[in-house]
Order: sequence, then C-alpha cells, then structure tokens
Amino acid sequence: MNPDSNNASGALPLMDEVARQVYPASTLYVLATPIGNFADITLRALHVLALVDAVACEDTRNTGHLLTRYGLSKKLIAAHQHNEREIAEKLIVRLQAGERIALVSDAGTPAISDPGARIVDAVRAAGLRVMPLPGPSAAIAALSASGLVCDQFHFVGFLPAKARQRDAALHSLRDMAATLIFYEAPHRISAAVDALAAVFEGQRQIVFARELTKLFEEVHRCQLSDAAAWVAQDAHHQKGEFVLLLEGALPAAEEDGAEAERVLRILLAECTVKQAATLAAHITGHKKNALYERALVIKAE
Ligand code: SAM
Repeated sequence: MNPDSNNASGALPLMDEVARQVYPASTLYVLATPIGNFADITLRALHVLALVDAVACEDTRNTGHLLTRYGLSKKLIAAHQHNEREIAEKLIVRLQAGERIALVSDAGTPAISDPGARIVDAVRAAGLRVMPLPGPSAAIAALSASGLVCDQFHFVGFLPAKARQRDAALHSLRDMAATLIFYEAPHRISAAVDALAAVFEGQRQIVFARELTKLFEEVHRCQLSDAAAWVAQDAHHQKGEFVLLLEGALPAAEEDGAEAERVLRILLAECTVKQAATLAAHITGHKKNALYERALVIKAE
C-alpha cells in the first residue's frame, strides 16, 4: 500500500513532513475528530485517516460525511456501545493481518463519554499496538475558555438520568476542591441546574460552555444562584450541546462539609434519616434537603 496514495491535503507543504513520520502497521489509531468545526482536525489525524485500511466508527453515516468533507472514502466498520466486544474481535483479526485501523467516535475523543474503551482494552490485551492521536474534547475546550483558575479538575461526564441517583452522585462531589466537569443534554439542562443549586453553595461559579467551535458558540459564567434565571431567560440557553463547569469547594467549605458529614453520621446512629437531617441542618446551617439526600446515601452504605 502506498501511504500517500490518498493524501488528505497534498497542497499543504507540511503534509509531506507529516507523511514521513512513522505509522506502524498492525496498529489501532485512536483518533480524535472535531466537536463541531470540521477544521479542528490535526495534520497527523488527516494523514492517518487517509492511510488506514478501515475506520471503526460509532455511526457510519456521520463518519462517512466527515470523511467526504476531507475528500476521503474509506471502509467503515460500525463500532458502537452495543457491539464493542464482538467488533473488537473482528478488528483484532484485521490488525493481526497487518492492517492499520482508525477508531473514531461521533465527535471529540473516543472513549471519553463515548464508546471505544472496550475495543482499546481488547486490542491491547491481544498484544497489539494502540496509538492515540490527540485532538478535540469538549471538556478540555470548555475548561480552557472558562477562565476558572484551577489546579485540578474532575471529569464527571453525564450524570445519571434518574433524580435519586443523580442527586446521590452530586452529594458525593460536594466537598471536592477540583473544578467539576459535566456533560449534559439540552433537554435536561434546566433540571441539572436545579439539582446543582440544591446541593452546592450558590456563590460557586458555574460556566455554561454551549455549542463550542460552532456558529452559536457561547461561554457564559455566573454564580450558581443566578444560573436558573440565565437558563430561563432565553430559549437558546436550553438548546445545543453543553458542557457545565462548576467551581470546586473552597477550602473553608470543604472543612465545613466534613463537619456536617461528621454530625450527620453521629445523629444517624441514633435517629431516623429525617430526624438526623433536620437536626444536622439546625446544628450546621446546611440545607436540610441536601443533608437528607446525603443521609439516605450513608444509610445505604
Ligand atoms: N467524546 C466527546 C468528547 O471528547 O468531548 C464527548 C461525547 S459525548 C457523547 C457528547 C457530549 O459532549 C454532549 O452531550 C455535550 O455535553 C459535549 N459536547 C460535545 N460537543 C460539544 C460542543 N461542541 N459544545 C459543547 N459541548 C459539547
């Protein structure tokens, strides 16, 4: 096979240099694709897409369109969350025969709130090489444009859809000092903001990173206590793709949270969940609902 026979962008002088790099055979290339703007693809990713024997992708239609945009046509293999294990076996056979295969998801980096991890795991377990081709990921793009000054971040991804599980997940994050990163569907944005406001202090900063890299891109930052009003104020604020960032706990809040947890645990040893939550709210000044949800989780431990 001639690696340059299907060069994605021969017009770019740099592409010759890119093509001279090493692209081992029998390798799975985990390749990040744009999260909205088709131009957000690396030179190396373009070259690999042109070079590979097949592209394993979440949705063959989406990836087909993307490749057409780059002037490429490739064998596409559907690899989604329902067939990852069996498709991994097929990919391994092809890789063992010397093929190069790219693994992509619909948008951004595979295996980040997307299928891909099981395939990568199986390919590695078969002793084959896996090479990452880094590129866009909505979480990192949002963080970079947020202006939140943080040394640490914690990627939560999608919260559980059911309210009880969602609230329990949020409670477990309450005292974390790291900036929290959530992915959320537009139809759930309003409920998610309400759930965040019920658990976290209203003075924390929240960032809505909406439609990143697209025409109606918007990065809005406000206090959590003002977030519901912002969402309600314009129908567009509940449309498109969202990353939500929430400022982590301040050191004082962290200590305060640990104290509330200590009080709640002592009370739970003697009282019902409801009584413990009510008394702990009186003692610590924390929200009763939040303490109640936390008490349920502690009881279930
Ligand atoms: N693998 C992707 C990545 O690396 O970011 C994430 C895929 S996940 C199924 C899709 C979610 O990512 C969306 O629901 C949204 O929360 C976020 N997302 C993707 N594209 C986005 C964009 N252009 N602007 C804001 N959020 C985006």
